[in-house]
Amino acid sequence: AEVQAEQTLTDGFHLLLDALKLNGVETIYTVPGIPISDLLRIAQGEGVRVLSFRHEQHAGFAASVAGFLTKKPGICMTVSAPGFLNGLTALANANVNCWPMILISGSSEREVIDLQQGDYEEMDQLAIARPHCKAAYRILNAEDIGIGVARAIRAAVSGRPGGVYLDIPGSLLGQVMDEIEGQKSLVEVIDPAPAQIPAPAAVDRALDVIKGAKKPLIILGKGAAYAQADDTVREFVEKSGIPYLPMSMAKGLLPDTHDQAAAAARSLVLKESDVVIMVGARLNWLLSHGKGKQWGEPHSTKFVQIDVEPTEMDSNVEIAAPLVGDIGSVLGALLEKMGDNWQKAPTDWVTAVKERKDANIQKMAARLQNNAVPMNYQGALGALKRVVDERPDAVVVNEGANTLDFARSIINMHKPRKRIDVGTWGVMGIGMGSAVAAAVETGNPVLAIEGDSAFGFSGMEVETICRYNLPVCIVVFNNNGIYKGTDTNPLGGPDVSPMVFVEDSRYDLMMEAFGGVGVRVTAPDELYRAVSEAMDSGKPTLINAAIDPAAGKESGNIGNLNPTSVVTQQ
Ligand code: ADP
Ligand code: MG
Repeated sequence: AEVQAEQTLTDGFHLLLDALKLNGVETIYTVPGIPISDLLRIAQGEGVRVLSFRHEQHAGFAASVAGFLTKKPGICMTVSAPGFLNGLTALANANVNCWPMILISGSSEREVIDLQQGDYEEMDQLAIARPHCKAAYRILNAEDIGIGVARAIRAAVSGRPGGVYLDIPGSLLGQVMDEIEGQKSLVEVIDPAPAQIPAPAAVDRALDVIKGAKKPLIILGKGAAYAQADDTVREFVEKSGIPYLPMSMAKGLLPDTHDQAAAAARSLVLKESDVVIMVGARLNWLLSHGKGKQWGEPHSTKFVQIDVEPTEMDSNVEIAAPLVGDIGSVLGALLEKMGDNWQKAPTDWVTAVKERKDANIQKMAARLQNNAVPMNYQGALGALKRVVDERPDAVVVNEGANTLDFARSIINMHKPRKRIDVGTWGVMGIGMGSAVAAAVETGNPVLAIEGDSAFGFSGMEVETICRYNLPVCIVVFNNNGIYKGTDTNPLGGPDVSPMVFVEDSRYDLMMEAFGGVGVRVTAPDELYRAVSEAMDSGKPTLINAAIDPAAGKESGNIGNLNPTSVVTQQ
């Protein structure tokens, strides 16, 4: 026993942090509590940036956005049971979006959980996490912390990136080990996301399909934004001369003002294209599953698809030329074989797309100029469009229904990975968590454009934004409720409709309560001035923008997904 006392010891707390730091983890997004409070204190003492939120879901959304922006797993730490479950929503969302994130949750003691004896916050977290993420692991022994963390990191970033759960029983943190043995047990992950090179035959097959196209189209998805192969993407688009459609989070990968951008001719290009090259985008609900009226059926479309995940191919329709690999490697291989004399996309098609697009942009431009009070979406977003045009480095966070749909099409993005939104699930509640991560990970000013309903999910995190003094300007599009805020209760009486909030809520005062700047505006030019000032000052600001409750439509562009009762309508 005396010999042991002279040894230098380490413990689970330090080994876990050393393992994370060894692999480049700089930031932990968290809500503290038993059993992770001391872990967070030690982390901060050792130079890790610990960002503490008011609810785990927002810490989790922040971690997932950090993963998207950096290609390194975003780390979220939570307490057991309810804290874990709150974080799990964000982990599942990260997984669905193919973003690397690791949720590390403290848990109570295995012996008690497994006999269901009723521990403090007892829950079999590992089993619950597993179906909602890419991989789930538990570390029981201090000497396994190194390999456990390595496994979590590789699982999160290799192949198709995703969410990983790491279960840390409280007692693990207290386990001791010889310091030197402990350091030796740590693992630095070598080449965590190895390049995935496409087979040459697959490249030839794809180029044959593209060569045969009369009306080709490229669709860029958020996988392409994630890949950080920006120059290669641009070179491929420009060398091919093919019009491209950016999915919402791929906006800015090439500037939205690019000559070949076809977003403003979306319905035309989807309906008429004969060959579509999918670049890190899935043929899911956001693209009508690649079939039906929107795709001009019965006319048939041939798909070339670039994706790191082999099972994505043929998920909804036949893929004529699957290209399995990472976007940089695949586009690089295509470019090499295209050589210097590649025949660009047919001119008549390119011209037709451009004409439609220019006409639509011109139509919209007039509407964006309006200075109507109460503000409609076009007037308010016309003002915000100008703000973003003048600040191409700003990160835009966007959620809501109409607020999302209109902002996505009206606000041009100029640089890659500057737009963060509701993603594949169309989830509400990503706002403040995403804004925090965007500010912390990029150091740039953030503009969060929020429907009033969407803002409500994460509104308490304005305290977090003020506490860390982050350069975030939140604009709440306040139309008194969900969709419009004009519903009435069919039964009358004191209960309002489930769609309606307190009229003219002063969200701006929430911000002032925590020392931030709050502004209430009613006109587009006022909105423009207030947002410009906030973005330049870098002060945490919330601008409460009164929007005409009669503007917009229920659920925005996706109202058709809302089942309606045939009986009630009769
Ligand atoms: P969007 O919603 O923008 O259409 P999705 O999230 O549906 O985009 O699709 C992104 C796709 O990109 C996923 O199928 C994912 O497997 C793929 N992906 C992610 N990273 C890479 C990468 N580095 N290389 C190739 N494909 C990738
Ligand atoms: Mg609303």
